[in-house]
Amino acid sequence: MTIRIDGKRMAGDLTARIAAETEALATEHGITPGLAVVIVGEDPASQVYVRNKQKTAQNCGFKSIKHALPADVSQDTVLRLIGDLNADPSIHGILVQLPLPKQLDETLVTQAIDPAKDVDGFHYVNVGKLAAGHTADAFVPCTPAGCMLMIEQQLGNDLSGKSAIVIGRSNIVGKPMAALLLAANATVTIAHSRTADLPAITREADIVVAAVGRPNMVGKEWLKPGAVVIDVGINRIEVEEDGETRSRLTGDVDYEEAAEVAGAVTPVPGGVGPMTITMLMANTLRAARLASGLGD
Ligand code: NAD
Repeated sequence: MTIRIDGKRMAGDLTARIAAETEALATEHGITPGLAVVIVGEDPASQVYVRNKQKTAQNCGFKSIKHALPADVSQDTVLRLIGDLNADPSIHGILVQLPLPKQLDETLVTQAIDPAKDVDGFHYVNVGKLAAGHTADAFVPCTPAGCMLMIEQQLGNDLSGKSAIVIGRSNIVGKPMAALLLAANATVTIAHSRTADLPAITREADIVVAAVGRPNMVGKEWLKPGAVVIDVGINRIEVEEDGETRSRLTGDVDYEEAAEVAGAVTPVPGGVGPMTITMLMANTLRAARLASGLGD
């Protein structure tokens, strides 16, 4: 029977562990991890993400602050704020919610964050460490880090002899995901919009990570029996239910079909999403420990 990988539950368990460690850090060392979230403009999806991140940070016992900037803010103002947060010893993690409005250069902004506070793992210092295989030293982007925990839960830490395909080559998900799988000894293929014969290649893989943004793209004919399937995609679709049109979230994998073939699948919602937020908390706790000379 196919296992439904319960990301919500895994995230809940991990959040509880992080909260307990945070309490111990405060009692034993007087340190409270501090997370600063910077949001620019009024994008509704970004507002929801930021609210969830702040709520989880508070549940973990962190100091959580939000800087909400107007949509027309200047680049200088954003960079000055990041400079202030870099210099603030009570802040251990800085996150700038993406996407940013057009007048702001995302690369300049993300690269202005101190690599030691880069809990999103987007600074080139962290990107480079991950690419070089120094996964233990790097802040790893939260979504692939969460996916990796789910894969390890199913298959263990050593993926020697396993073949993996990552569909999507973004800097936020696809590329770091491939680096993590490679570091765990999997044989990794990265597929993207220019890949030919994608279903045939995907059918060879023991591990499939779909990070594309196309609803229900991966069907049962794409999957090798027993494969572990991680669905990163978040797509809003319209469905007809009881004569009404309703909006629903769906992944890049057709869950029902995948469940007929795969060994384990993550659902959407309730799979990768909750784990992503929890990994942000794990990175912030780690940043606080490292900043205080306590080690990992
Ligand atoms: P992106 O748009 O930056 O990248 C999409 C990738 O998919 C590209 O590399 C592109 O080459 C590839 N692609 C496009 N069409 C394809 C096709 N027909 N066949 C094969 N590959 C194709 O997106 P992203 O930021 O990597 O996000 C991907 C999806 O994951 C989106 O749905 C996004 O909302 C979701 N996401 C979810 C989380 C989470 O926490 N669950 C986090 C980040 C992103």
